[in-house]
Amino acid sequence: MDAKRIVVVGGVAGGMSFATRYRRLNQKDEIIVLDKGPYVSFANCGLPYYISGEIEDRNALLVAKKEMLQARFQLDVRENHEVIALNAKEKYIIAKSMGEDHRIDYDTLVLSPGAHPFLLNIEGMDQRKGIFTVRNIPDVDGITQYIEDTNPKSAVVIGAGFIGLEMAESLKQRGLDVSIVEKAPHVLPPFDVEMAAYASSELKRHGVHVYTNTSITKFEGHQGILEDGTSIDADLVIMSVGVIPATDIAKEAGIELGMRGGILVDENYQTSEEDIYAVGDAIIVKHNITKEDAMIALASPANRQGRQLADILNGLGSKNKGSLGTAIVRIFDLTFASTGLNERQLENRDYHVLHLNGRDHAGYFPNATPIRLKVIFDKKTHEILGAQAFGEKGVDKRIDIIATAIKAGLSVVDLQELEFTYAPPYGSAKDVVNMAGYVAQNLIEGQTQTVQWHEVKDLMDAGVLFVDVRNNLSENAPSLPGSIRMPLDSIRCNMYKLPQDKDIVVFCDSGQTSYNAEVILREAGFKVRNFNGSHMLYSKLVEEGVL
Ligand code: FAD
Repeated sequence: MDAKRIVVVGGVAGGMSFATRYRRLNQKDEIIVLDKGPYVSFANCGLPYYISGEIEDRNALLVAKKEMLQARFQLDVRENHEVIALNAKEKYIIAKSMGEDHRIDYDTLVLSPGAHPFLLNIEGMDQRKGIFTVRNIPDVDGITQYIEDTNPKSAVVIGAGFIGLEMAESLKQRGLDVSIVEKAPHVLPPFDVEMAAYASSELKRHGVHVYTNTSITKFEGHQGILEDGTSIDADLVIMSVGVIPATDIAKEAGIELGMRGGILVDENYQTSEEDIYAVGDAIIVKHNITKEDAMIALASPANRQGRQLADILNGLGSKNKGSLGTAIVRIFDLTFASTGLNERQLENRDYHVLHLNGRDHAGYFPNATPIRLKVIFDKKTHEILGAQAFGEKGVDKRIDIIATAIKAGLSVVDLQELEFTYAPPYGSAKDVVNMAGYVAQNLIEGQTQTVQWHEVKDLMDAGVLFVDVRNNLSENAPSLPGSIRMPLDSIRCNMYKLPQDKDIVVFCDSGQTSYNAEVILREAGFKVRNFNGSHMLYSKLVEEGVL
């Protein structure tokens, strides 16, 4: 068979994974990779850490150089070539470079153009300098140049998603006075509010000013004006309010698009047009849990999709199986990670929530640090629907395990069965992930009945008795308003003082001590539930203004 010409639009995560895998599988076909930017195969995910100075060498961002890609993989890499038109019927594209248009015919076209940062149109923007988005190397070059030239003292990051938070941390580390402005009710919108409260708290602990439920309405010079008129210093502005798929060319060519303008593809990543395939941030995937259309702009799916497409085009058995959305971010000393769905995405499902307080390794071994884990599972099927966690260490491991469990179709109870490496410096004999399985079983079998943080206030108002069962508390240790104290270790002797006819909620700082109190009291005939989330969570939510 004659050699084919494969043209790839976009030479970074999806596009370059495709091109290099394709070459490994096929030494004959011609592969042309076009990118409108000056670099291919650069580390988008590393960009914020170059701004902070943590990645010192700009060259480190260039993961694979053009020369290597040409020599090793025989890829015809053409940077600074923007594809401006696509003719799907006659099978050619037009690429613009140095002011000239070039027609390039293809046998197979692969689109991996990624997504554009969404740009807000804010009054006063055009009358000032120093407003940036972060998507590629020219963007970070622009930011670092601006910092060197103007020596800004303050920065505002608009948007508190993953990239916004990374930029806030990076600019703070560079010595700027940083504010973060988020239109949603809390930072880290993919998380649920009670988990995100800890992210907000960590930002503030490191001196970042956090404004939520608001936006910048206008700029007056280097001041940003919030909805309530508050003026914040904004010498440098980073706009990080989400992305939109870069699909204008595809749209003009008549390729079928779906939600938010993403490209619709089938299980072979084929678009509605013959011989045109697409991968990466620009495509719509089936969400692994909802089985519905979703847009998941993450590096790992983009890389996987590129590789799978190369397999498919070379007759290997890969398929587009959709994505789950597993993500992680560092916020100063804490790591936040999540997989699957959050509660807001589960409006139509009947689910249970578990909050667990574990440690990255055995509590008795030095330097153990807390891990807070939230697991959401379906009440009937016990399918794991999502998980969120934060802590100083070991958060990635726990969320990765749960993400793997979801992909493998394990139920929440199956988490008990997972066997992890264990020695005291590394883990716990009952890891917090195993604990999620144990607690889920207790919940399913009715050995525990829980109350969630958002129910607490209504229950208090309804006159439910809250009992603080923490042992060894100092006399004036803060507790839930209106609660009484009865330490677990005294409960067998003192429970006669509790009312038999009243609803009782027991609580502690982990949910474990109170679980022990719950089973003792239930056996003794009390109507008792356990506050799943603990006094610590409650106080954090009060501190952060959530409750
Ligand atoms: P990209 O990697 O963006 O590549 C698309 C390329 O196509 C671009 O170089 C673009 O110039 C080119 N292009 C677009 N249109 C045209 C055209 N018409 N002609 C020619 N070329 C064109 N994901 C994570 O999972 N973890 C992270 O920590 C993480 N951090 C990130 C940090 C930042 C600052 C950014 C911007 C993204 C981050 N991501 C992260 C997301 C991740 O980088 C993307 O999901 C991934 O790169 C998408 O791959 P892609 O191939 O679809 O698009």
